[in-house]
Amino acid sequence: MPPTAIGARTEERSTVSSQPCPQAGLAHRTPPWRPCVALAVQYGHLRTAISGGYASRSRDGIHDLLDIETARATADTLATLHDDLTEGVGISGPAARRAIHAANHAPAFAGTIFSARAARDLLENPSLTVHDNPKAYLMCVYNREKALCHRLAGQQETPSLDRCQPTCANITRTDHHATQLMALADVLEKQAGTLTPAPMGKRLQARADNLRAIAKNHHNNRLTLAEASA
Ligand code: SF4
Repeated sequence: MPPTAIGARTEERSTVSSQPCPQAGLAHRTPPWRPCVALAVQYGHLRTAISGGYASRSRDGIHDLLDIETARATADTLATLHDDLTEGVGISGPAARRAIHAANHAPAFAGTIFSARAARDLLENPSLTVHDNPKAYLMCVYNREKALCHRLAGQQETPSLDRCQPTCANITRTDHHATQLMALADVLEKQAGTLTPAPMGKRLQARADNLRAIAKNHHNNRLTLAEASA
C-alpha cells in the first residue's frame, strides 16, 4: 500500500453520518456538528456531492457554509503549522517551503472567517491553500497544476485528500507526522509478530517498514524555520 494511502481505504474514508462525530465538542466554541462537516469538506465528499468545488456558479446558503467551513479548517491548519514552526518543529517534503510561506500568513486569518466573503478571500489565494490530511499523515499544499489526485478523480478546484498519491509534489510533513508514522509502525509491527497468520504478518511488517522509511526520510530532509530563513 502506498504510504499516503494509509487512510485511504474505503472503510476509513470520512462521511457525514447520523453517528456522533468523534471530534465533536473538542472546542467549546464549536457546534458539535461542525468538525464532522469540516472533515467531510476536507475530504471532498460533501462538496463534490453538492457543488463540485469553490467555483460553482450558484451561490447559496449551503455553498456559503461549505466555503466558511473549508476556510476555517484551512485557517486552523495554517495557525497550527505557524505555531509548530515557530516552536522549532521541522518540516519536509517537496512542498515544505510553500507550506512555510503559507504559515507566515496565518496570523492574518486567525478568528476572521465569519462570512462567505472572508472565506473566499482565503480560499481563492492559491498560496494559502494548505489542507491537513491526517489519515495520510501529511499536509497538502494544494497547487492544482501539480496535483496527482485529479488524474484519478477528474476534479480541479480542491484536492481529493482521500485519493492522495505518495509521489505528489504538494506533500509536506512535520515532525508530528513522522512521530505518528513511527507510532503506527510500532503498532503494526506488534500485530505482525503476535496476532496474525504469517502472510498477513508479512504484509503488516512490510507496511510498518514503509512507514518507518517515510519517517526516516523526513528526519533526513527536515527543515526548521530558522534554516529555511537562513
Ligand atoms: S494534491 Fe497531491 S498532496 Fe494534495 S491530496 Fe492530491 S495527491 Fe495528495
